[in-house]
Amino acid sequence: MSDQAPQYGFETLQIHAGGKPDPATGARQTPIYQNTAYVFRDADHAAALFNLQEAGFIYSRLTNPTVSALQERVAALEGGAGGVATASGHAAQQLALFPLMSPGDNFIASTRLYGGSITQFGQAFKRFGWEVRFIDFDDIDAIKAAIDGRTKALWAESIANPGGVITDLEPIAELADAQKIPFIVDNTMATPALCRPFDWGAHIACHSTTKFLSGTGTAMGGVVIDSGRFDWSATDKFPSLSAPEEAYHGLRFHETFGALAYTLHGHAIGLRDLGACQAPMNAFLTLLGAETLSLRMQRHCENAQAVAEFLEQHDKVAYVSYAGLPSSPYHARAKKYLKGGAGSVFTFGVKGGYEAGVKLVDSVELFSHLANLGDARSLVIHSASTTHRQLTDEQRAAAGAGAEVVRLSIGIETADDLIRDLEQALARL
Ligand SMILES: *Cc1c(COP(=O)(O)O)cnc(C)c1O
Repeated sequence: MSDQAPQYGFETLQIHAGGKPDPATGARQTPIYQNTAYVFRDADHAAALFNLQEAGFIYSRLTNPTVSALQERVAALEGGAGGVATASGHAAQQLALFPLMSPGDNFIASTRLYGGSITQFGQAFKRFGWEVRFIDFDDIDAIKAAIDGRTKALWAESIANPGGVITDLEPIAELADAQKIPFIVDNTMATPALCRPFDWGAHIACHSTTKFLSGTGTAMGGVVIDSGRFDWSATDKFPSLSAPEEAYHGLRFHETFGALAYTLHGHAIGLRDLGACQAPMNAFLTLLGAETLSLRMQRHCENAQAVAEFLEQHDKVAYVSYAGLPSSPYHARAKKYLKGGAGSVFTFGVKGGYEAGVKLVDSVELFSHLANLGDARSLVIHSASTTHRQLTDEQRAAAGAGAEVVRLSIGIETADDLIRDLEQALARL
């Protein structure tokens, strides 16, 4: 949208941001630019593009018009300066840290993360020489104590997967500011419809768009959104952004591009060299999903609340960890940080432990037993036998994924049908 556009509301932005009629054809819906390379007007144009003096399209590993539309839309929804879309959420996580980290550096992450993130951070990133320090993010003093001269970021999820934990974003962002390191928030589970981490002082938002943003379980994808507010030149901690870049004739990203430095680095260096670009078809599907994001999140939350209330009073259920329930220690934080509901994903404990958890997932009929979340359909998984299988018992307990834990991702079906399905499955235990 043009710079003169009024400050549109969220529901307008989720349809229109990045979604101008196609300049080439007038097509109203964003076309799928299923294309790899773009013809230069002349040699000067080519040189300007390669020198990053002019914005435009060179090769779809760096930028593609359909993928750009998605980046612009999610950046608008998060209130950020710009974004980089990637092949998956995991690719986004690597790309988010890539400009910040060198071998021997560390970052501090919450113990309560998506199981795959704990493995990626602790095992794969270790082989790059990137050290992760897992800390309980409810303990600000412990985070502070873990920070040293080579700490390059703090990392948490807004709604933490899977245990109904809401991260106290505001004081952590204040700590990050005081320490001059960026606070990165994985906002996959909340989506900007429920929570905008930048409103609470976070610097970078990271997403698996595979989940609620696309919303129908059809497209892998990720996106890194920069608030544009972090001062990369305040210290010498971030030379990739503040020092001269050899590959671009000594250009300094932060000095040259200001609020867009981190985003342009993500394209010009991150995607160029790591190569985990998003497919145009996936960007198209995610753009479609984004158009209904706020409507779906509202329904997801209403249904999740109804199911959580049903489970909490059931005699075969030991406990329900859902921040929408007054019994949750995170209820007050949900009220503070989440707009319109506590999300769709939560866990509960079945009486009877591991055996009962496995029996439950084998007994549901309407719920799908699979390893995903954020689908229009309701999903169930027994964490200990699947997503958190690779972790040690201690890591599982810390991540809220003990033997009895069943995770639900509540869809947008009729709530009574979901409750009936769980009722019959629990009856078989
Ligand atoms: C799924 C997920 C990821 C990883 O995303 P992929 O698209 O599966 O690579 C990261 N963080 C959270 C919170 C997730 O739910």
